[in-house]
Parts: sequence; structure tokens; C-alpha cells
Amino acid sequence: MQAIYILANNTLALIISTTLIGLLIGSFINVIIYRLPKMMQREWREQAREILELPAETHAATFNLVLPNSSCPHCSHEIKPWENIPLISYLFLRGKCSSCKAPISMRYPLVELACGLLSAFIAWHFGFTWQAGAMLLLTWGLLAMSLIDVDHQLLPDSLVLPLLWLGLIANNFGLFTSLEDALLGAIAGYLSLWSVYWLFKLVTGKEGMGYGDFKLLAMLGAWGGWQVLPLTILLSSLVGAVLGLIMLRLRNAETSTPIPFGPYLAIAGWIALLWGEQITSGYLQIAGF
Ligand SMILES: [Zn+2]
Repeated sequence: MQAIYILANNTLALIISTTLIGLLIGSFINVIIYRLPKMMQREWREQAREILELPAETHAATFNLVLPNSSCPHCSHEIKPWENIPLISYLFLRGKCSSCKAPISMRYPLVELACGLLSAFIAWHFGFTWQAGAMLLLTWGLLAMSLIDVDHQLLPDSLVLPLLWLGLIANNFGLFTSLEDALLGAIAGYLSLWSVYWLFKLVTGKEGMGYGDFKLLAMLGAWGGWQVLPLTILLSSLVGAVLGLIMLRLRNAETSTPIPFGPYLAIAGWIALLWGEQITSGYLQIAGF
């Protein structure tokens, strides 16, 4: 009880402990990003073989978010607990596997750092509140699904849909908006991109987005209400254009590489949830309304 009292009354203690939790969650998010798509592919293969009446594949070992223990992809050296401390281990190992010296991707410490900083920001912004707790879960979820989308052009239902429900449940208690606006947000979020998708497909015969994007916007609507949707769509195109140009520069105009829309929606939705009202009213003021 005393710990709760300290967290509720000391902002610095709250921010520091949230940062530490964020770093640990970031480490787990790295596991999710790597393993969840593999788990999904396994499941799809199994289902496909069942439908085709092929014998089931025999898998060597269980593979889920917990088992087996993480190992080096080059030499299969099992990663020891002390090699798994967020940020610190990477610095201590100088970014190399302790056994075979193969370089460890910079992305692991960067994801941990990003998760730690974003968590710290949420704690600072919301203080010791239910909103902070809910926003932390949303932020972690958005981070994981954005990076899976970058890697695999895939937004896993197993992340998006529970968060959609969580948004509705949070707003049942009026945490971010009324339940009515949240429900409308979920419906309008899904239908708006769904209609853009079909219009685009009917006109050009191409598919511009995936169904995962509709569900993601529905989820963001469930958190912030229908009011966040216009700004989210506007900002996501803006973020997409800016990051898209930067990436084209970096990749030397590999124009054919598909750039997923999910991360832009996630970033835009997160910003709209936190500052939507200020941005909209500021814009209206500038526009002279
Ligand atoms: Zn190794």
C-alpha cells in the first residue's frame, strides 16, 4: 500500500518506475514482433494442411511467446538472463553475441528505448490515473503491431481486436470519451476505410490497404470516439507522406517495396488521442473560425 501511496504522490517516482516497466515491456515487445508472426504462419499452415487433408506437420518443439528461451539466430547460443537486460546488456555486449560475436540488430535496444520513453511520457502526461494505465496498454500494443506491420504487412487480429474491446470497456467508464461516441467511433472508423478501399478497388482494380487497417482505425475510434477519426486520417496521410519520402531517400527509390499504412495510422491515432482537441481548435483558430 505504501508503494501505491508513493506512486500517487511523487511524480518523479511514478515516471522512473513507469520507465523501467516500459523498458522491460519493450524487451517483451521484441519477442512478440519476432514470434507472433511465426506463430500465425504455423497456425495457417496447420489449418491449410487440415483442409487439404494432408498429414499434420510434426514440429520439433513448442513455439510460443514464452518457449523456447531466446537464442542467437546465428549460433543458437541460448541467451542468459544477464544478457537480456533491456538496453544495458546491449551496451555491455557492445551489440555482439557473447558466443559467436555476430552483430545484434540495433532494433532491439531501440524498441526498448522507445517503449521506455513513451511509457515515461504517458506517466508524466496522465499522472497516477486509470487513463495512464489504459494508455500504456494501448501504446505498447500500437508499438508491437506497427513493427509487425513494417516487417510482414500484417496487423494481427490477436493484438488489434482485444485492444478494440479494451477501448470500449475503458469508455464504458468514460475514461476518454462517452461509450456512445466510442461505439460510433469504432463503426465509423471501420466503415470509412472500408469504403475508401472498395472505391479505390472499383476504380483502379488494385488493393490499397488491408482489412487490418480498417480494424485498426475502428480500434482507435473505440478509444477516442468518432471525433478523433478525421484528424487521425489527415495526420496519417501527412506522417505517411513525410516518412515515405524519407524512406524512399534511404532505400534509394525502391518504389516497389510496399509501405504499410498501419504504422502511420497508429502514430496519427496516438497523437490524435493525446492532443486531438488542442490541434483541432488551434487549426480552427488559424483558419479564422
Ligand atoms: Zn551467436
